[in-house]
Amino acid sequence: MPRKRPLKLRCPICKKVVKNTDPEFPFCSERCRTIDLGKWASGAYVISSPVTDADESIRDNNPEDSESKS
Ligand SMILES: [Zn+2]
Repeated sequence: MPRKRPLKLRCPICKKVVKNTDPEFPFCSERCRTIDLGKWASGAYVISSPVTDADESIRDNNPEDSESKS
C-alpha cells in the first residue's frame, strides 16, 4: 500500500488535471503559471476597495438633502 498517493488538482488557468508531483504544480505548465502571474500583476484578482467612504460623508453634510424631504 503506497504511503503517499499523488494529489490531483486542476490547473486554475486551463482546468487541466495536475498532479502535485508536477514541477509546475499547481499549474499544468509554465505557460499557465505565467498567465496567473500576469493576472495578479494586472489587478484581476484585486477585490475592489471601498472608495465610497469619502462620498458618503460629503453627502451626509449636504444641507440640501433634508430639503428634498417633504
Ligand atoms: Zn493550465
